[in-house]
Order: sequence, then C-alpha cells, then structure tokens
Amino acid sequence: MNRFALTLVGGMSLAWVSLAAAQSPPADPYPVIQGKTYRFEKIADGVYYATGGFGSNNVVIVNDADVLIVDTGTTPAAARAFIADIKMLTDKPVRFVVNTHWHFDHTDGNSVFGPDVQIIANDYVRTAITTFDVLHREPYLTSEGSAVPAQIEDLGEQAAAERDPDRKAQLQQRLYAAQQVLVQLKDIKPTPPNVTYSDKLILHRGGREIDLLFLGRGHTAGDTVVWLPKERIVCSGDLMESRIAYMGDGYFDEWVATLDKLKNLDFAVDLPGHGVPFSDKNMITEFQSYLKDLVAQVSALKAQGVSPDEAAQRVNLTAHAKYFPQITGPGADLRGVRRVYAWLDERDKK
Ligand SMILES: [Zn+2]
Repeated sequence: MNRFALTLVGGMSLAWVSLAAAQSPPADPYPVIQGKTYRFEKIADGVYYATGGFGSNNVVIVNDADVLIVDTGTTPAAARAFIADIKMLTDKPVRFVVNTHWHFDHTDGNSVFGPDVQIIANDYVRTAITTFDVLHREPYLTSEGSAVPAQIEDLGEQAAAERDPDRKAQLQQRLYAAQQVLVQLKDIKPTPPNVTYSDKLILHRGGREIDLLFLGRGHTAGDTVVWLPKERIVCSGDLMESRIAYMGDGYFDEWVATLDKLKNLDFAVDLPGHGVPFSDKNMITEFQSYLKDLVAQVSALKAQGVSPDEAAQRVNLTAHAKYFPQITGPGADLRGVRRVYAWLDERDKK
C-alpha cells in the first residue's frame, strides 16, 4: 500500500485525515516494531496496537496457539498487508477476527480470511452487512466510494493545468496513488461475521481470557468492546476514539450511557479504533460532554427551523478543542449533524 495514498484517503473523510495528521504525534511510551505497512506498539506480552494501515487502527492478540485480531481495515489489500506484517510478531495463525462494528474501515478486509477463521461480532454487524447496501451508503460513500473518483478527476485537471514541472510531477504522483486506491477499493467484497453474539462472549485461548462485550448502543447499534481483564486492556473501537468519532449512525443519549459502562471497566489502557492509546478516563468524560453539547446545540437550531446543512456550519464545539485538537473552528461533520436531526425525530415520535 502506497504510503502517500494512505495519507490521502486513509480515514473517514479527507478533511478529518488532514486535521489528524496535523497533530503532532505523542512520545512513544511503548516499544515499536515497524512492519512494511503497519507499525506495532507492544502494549503488553502478546498484545500489539497496529497503526499506519488503510482504515482503522487494529489490535493483534497473540495467544498460546493462535492469534486474534481486532478489525481488518478498509480493503482486502490492507488486510493482506496486515497479515503479512503480523508474521514479524509471530508464526502462529490468525484464527479469530473481531469486528468492533460494521463500518467499512473496520470490516472490508474480512473477505481475505478463509472458513477456518472465526469472524466474530455483535449480531447487528451481521444484520448491517447482509441487509444494508453498504458500498452505496454512508459512511463509505462520501469517505471513499464517491470521494476517491472525485479526487482523481480533480487531481487530473490540476495536473493537466499545472505549468511548473516539479508541481506537475507531484500532482501526477498523487493522481497515480489515488488511482491505485481506487483499484483496491474495487476489490472489496463486504463479508459479514460468521459468529455473532448479543451481549457477551468470552474466549479462553490458552492462558488468555478475551471478553467481547456489547455495552449498549452508541456509535452504532452494535459496537463491541474487547476487554482483556488480566491485562486490563480495553479495545473500544469507534465507540470511544482519542478523537471525535464519525456520528452518522449514532444513538446519542445511549452513547453517553454506554460510555459510562466503558468507564466502569478498570482499564489501564484503551486502544481505540482511531487515534492513540490513552489511559485517562477524563478523555471519555470530555467526549461525553462533547456529545451532550452537540445534541443540545443541534436541537436548539432544529427547533428554530434551521436546516441540517446550516446547523453543521453554525454549531460551535471549539470549547472541546483542548481534549480534541482536531476541532480547529466552528462547525461539525454534516453527516453527524444530519444524524442528530433524524435521531431527534425518532426520539420525539416515541
Ligand atoms: Zn472507524
């Protein structure tokens, strides 16, 4: 996977990626093993946090006889690169995959795994992948599906018009990288989990206990939290990131309540679906405060008859920038604000 392409289109939306990239990386508290594509931080014996791929950050858990991974990235190519890099950590086979939720950047690598691998998730993930037309709706559509072709067209026009030879070459390189991403996206075959659970599933793999917990609706209707009780490590997917999550499928009141349950776990470190590992539970409290503030502001604007598009520009969440430096000015992701409108309508009907 071309590193440049990753920076270009590796996250939920182009704007969010460039903002995230602008934040300076924290000092490395964990030993690092650099693979060809993925960078592994060793969090505990046999537990690695994997970043640098196309899509979500992933987790590798090496057990006595096998390996469990948390999330598979955006494309089959990304998952294959991930599996290849895991060979630097262990020669044990990947036998378990956990999808923290159904979004493309966590599940669209699933198709590379054979029938000998258990792909495990909450029941809702299977429902979503088998019944939604996931490649023709959000969040895939504006993050990748329509975004990458639009970017290719734009870069092509810019490259054609550019007179300076160096800048032209640069634009052509970016165009090539985006075209490579498009080729990889075409290879996606949405693949649902083949093992599902509703509330809790415990895996005992040799000396390791791995708990899969559904703590309630929040970021989606079926987020799994992976909890290692002995190591006191939690993998929170996008239910709790170290940055502001995508909100287009959120259940906002329940999200706040579900995050209370996450805080009740006595974790030493949280490995989120995006961002960086964190230990400070105030991060979660601050994110709850962001959620409540967003809903309060959007509700007020909606009550005034303001459109979602205008509300997305008018909300001001800069008060939360201390914990979430990706907030650099007024406004919020339109897809999230549209979801707050729909969610308010659903709630008012009850
Ligand atoms: Zn994600």
